Amino acid sequence: DYALYNSKQCRNGRAVMFNREHGIRIRETSRIEQALRHADLGSEMWLVYQPIRNVPERRTIGYEALARWRSPTLGLVSPAIFIPVAEQARQIGRLTEMLLARALQAAAAWPETLSLSFNLSALDVGSNATMAAVRKIVRSSGVAPRRIEFEITETAVMRDFEQAAEALRTLRELGTRVALDDFGTGFSSLSHVHRLKPDKIKIDRSFVTDITTSGSARGIVSTIADMCRNLGLECVAEGVETEAQLELLLSLGCSLIQGYLIGPPRDGPDLGEPGLRGEMAPDRPSAALLPA
Ligand code: C2E
Ligand code: MG
Ligand code: MG
Ligand code: MG
Repeated sequence: DYALYNSKQCRNGRAVMFNREHGIRIRETSRIEQALRHADLGSEMWLVYQPIRNVPERRTIGYEALARWRSPTLGLVSPAIFIPVAEQARQIGRLTEMLLARALQAAAAWPETLSLSFNLSALDVGSNATMAAVRKIVRSSGVAPRRIEFEITETAVMRDFEQAAEALRTLRELGTRVALDDFGTGFSSLSHVHRLKPDKIKIDRSFVTDITTSGSARGIVSTIADMCRNLGLECVAEGVETEAQLELLLSLGCSLIQGYLIGPPRDGPDLGEPGLRGEMAPDRPSAALLPA
């Protein structure tokens, strides 16, 4: 999957180059928009699920749903690329609704101890129609709302604070939880926490990546972890790739971990998988509980 993300194969039209540093070229944006308009979303898009683990307690607490798109003309396109293009093309609403319905259908078959995290884009949060659809989909899903967590980025909050606050109220009334995603990368992060009162903070991968080499990154992560403790918020470190990063995070009191070290995004939760460092997950469910 990921091999194509950074590839240069875009030149022959088989994959779209994904490069956070250089962004995407305008020409590519319009090609993506075209492909998206004509896409058969139902068959070209799917979700993968990445585990989030409470490491000291040795249990997987839930999975984050991440969208994947393989276009017949473009190949595999990263969500970091197609989500913004879908927003721009006003296609995001139908996409979000389809993906959320699917994610909840999957989660309905998981053990009840597992939560589902789902990303909402800035435009989703700003759309009354989408939020109404979200409410409907959640209610008819059969998944207990407390097992559902919506992730909203700080950037989304910054686009329109009042709309974001309104969306959060809607989600709270539903009984679902809310996480601030990519935390620390937006402006006035502390004010967002104070005013929105999310249930959870997800520390941005950029800080986690630098934690072993940069005193400042370590200080920031430590401060966010302390803040979460003081405010009674949960705190997840995302993008954890190495044992050294994990050790440091644990020493800073950050026990909820997501990243390739714990597990990459997969087609479905592999609940029988041996846990971190080879021990078996104590909450390993019976085969009967596993999704087909
Ligand atoms: P995100 O919500 O912050 O998701 C985490 C991203 O980090 C995912 O990228 C995940 O695959 C990647 N990741 C996880 N662990 C590691 C690690 O150890 N190392 C590295 N290098 N990366 C790791 P992905 O799946 O490409 O998604 C990128 C972004 O696209 C997401 O960032 C999210 O903002 C957005 N996105 C993905 N799916 C959806 C969706 O269904 N709806 C919306 N609105 N946005 C989505
Ligand atoms: Mg997320
Ligand atoms: Mg994130
Ligand atoms: Mg991110």
